[in-house]
Amino acid sequence: MGLVNVSNLTKKFGGFTALNGVNLEVNGGEVFGFIGPNGAGKSTTIRVLLGILKASDGEVKIFGKDAWNDAVEIHKRVAYVPGDVNLWPNLTGGEVIDLFVKLRGTNHQSKREELIKKFDLDPTKKCRTYSKGNRQKVALIAAFSSDADLYILDEPTSGLDPLMEQVFQECVMEVKSKGKSVLLSSHILSEVEKLCDKVAIIREGAIIETGTLNELRHLTRTQILVETKQPITNLTGIKGIHEIEETSQGLSFQVETEEMDVVIRHISQFGIVKLESAPPTLEALFMRHYEGTESVTGTGAGGAN
Ligand code: ADP
Ligand code: MG
Repeated sequence: MGLVNVSNLTKKFGGFTALNGVNLEVNGGEVFGFIGPNGAGKSTTIRVLLGILKASDGEVKIFGKDAWNDAVEIHKRVAYVPGDVNLWPNLTGGEVIDLFVKLRGTNHQSKREELIKKFDLDPTKKCRTYSKGNRQKVALIAAFSSDADLYILDEPTSGLDPLMEQVFQECVMEVKSKGKSVLLSSHILSEVEKLCDKVAIIREGAIIETGTLNELRHLTRTQILVETKQPITNLTGIKGIHEIEETSQGLSFQVETEEMDVVIRHISQFGIVKLESAPPTLEALFMRHYEGTESVTGTGAGGAN
């Protein structure tokens, strides 16, 4: 039993099915990446987890309790940062942080001060004057100043600059090192890749892939650039090789990660002079998943857009 268990979650808004049989499991001590493009259903899933929305069907549990019926109980142990942070316009950032932290029943003054400094926030300003990034900082500082067992963060860095994103990553690492769990939704894949033990990819309300980064790498390809003494022959006959191209730098191709060993053995017969490989990225995996979207939903016209 995980810390978060979502099974067969369906959420309908009138006739529109926003989530269609979503399954997720987040375990203790895990940073779990929840990735997908805008409109895929990330925020809706998170709102159901928080008991803000009621599931149309399926079972949603946090700490073994029901997300809807036991929301009050669950919230004592959860810190949440929404994607679009709205704050009380007439309170200062510092007042909002205090309010959030107190609502959660913990009060870590020193942590609060440390994070305000790290995130470079002026807590004396009224919230109505804050930019999106600053509003996010307020919510992040409040969340990471609180004791929680589960941090649910919905695209928390979309308004932060790279320096602040670094601070955010340190915060996630720190709670992880204390054995806490994080559910982090994002469409910034590089961020998810750095932080997460596991990821689930959601598209059009359904999870299309889930697993550890290593497990997902079987779907990825490594980009190879090789120069050999003798020309390489019979490359096309090898399984798992794609996009072969002669370039002025050498022979360029992609290899399915699982076939790498065979490919390297083959090319080494030709006297390798130079070999470059680019590691498989989630980005590449993601792009391949989104290829063919039109054939799934389209009517066959398949034009570019
Ligand atoms: P994401 O967070 O991945 O960008 P959302 O969960 O916000 O996606 O939205 C998923 C889909 O559900 C979208 O098509 C969105 O328009 C729709 N949706 C979200 N909330 C509502 C709502 N309250 N009423 C109707 N449709 C909604
Ligand atoms: Mg969202």
